[in-house]
Amino acid sequence: MRKPPLIAANWKMYKTPAQAEGYVKTFLPLVAGHDRDEIVLCPSDTSICAIVPTVAGSNVAIGGQNMHFAEEGAYTGETSALMLKAIGATHVIIGHSERRQYFNETDESVNKKLATALKHQLIPIVCIGEVLAEREDGHTDEVLRKQISLALVGVTPEDAENIVVAYEPVWAIGTGKTATPEIAATAHLLIRSEIARRLGRHVADTVRILYGGSVKPDNATALLNQPEIDGALVGGASLDPQSFAKIVKY
Ligand code: PGA
Repeated sequence: MRKPPLIAANWKMYKTPAQAEGYVKTFLPLVAGHDRDEIVLCPSDTSICAIVPTVAGSNVAIGGQNMHFAEEGAYTGETSALMLKAIGATHVIIGHSERRQYFNETDESVNKKLATALKHQLIPIVCIGEVLAEREDGHTDEVLRKQISLALVGVTPEDAENIVVAYEPVWAIGTGKTATPEIAATAHLLIRSEIARRLGRHVADTVRILYGGSVKPDNATALLNQPEIDGALVGGASLDPQSFAKIVKY
């Protein structure tokens, strides 16, 4: 059985702690009692402490946007899985394309971060996706198979129970160009087949694969009604509580 859909907000480098708290106070009543989907807000690390007490006992969970793979050490500017957990995060985004593009995130570091997140019972939301040139050159399938299989090196079927994958075509992120529901569903099927090859059919049938890339209130229903799409990772449209609540309630 597939788990309930997961709708996650990726606020990126937006919102001070006070702004994050203001958002949550507006957002919680808008989604109160909504239990069809799991809802996760991923603020900057600096805002996590500000909103964890406010969401406590609600249907909203909190995630980090990144973490280091080491448990601790001399890594100036970094945050560990233990630290995220200690302040109340339950999820963590790993391998976002902006991390891959600007901060030297590689398939290898994604794999190490995934192992550390699982070890500390943080639910990883592992992002993969092709850039425009790869799609135009007909390499999408190969890129996605490679990214997901390298992310999953060393992962057992039991571990995989707690993994969430996000398919985020890089050409659709923040560009207003959404993958059509059919393009997204085709990519999800391919990712699921690669997961089946590595970890078995049962894992592939149960793992959640989210779609991300210009998800908005007006396209969320068409995307999320695809049986292959198990939720969404939302950037720009998640910054406004009203608009994110509309996506949650697609
Ligand atoms: P977007 O971002 O919704 O603004 O395209 C998605 C993401 O980066 O996760």
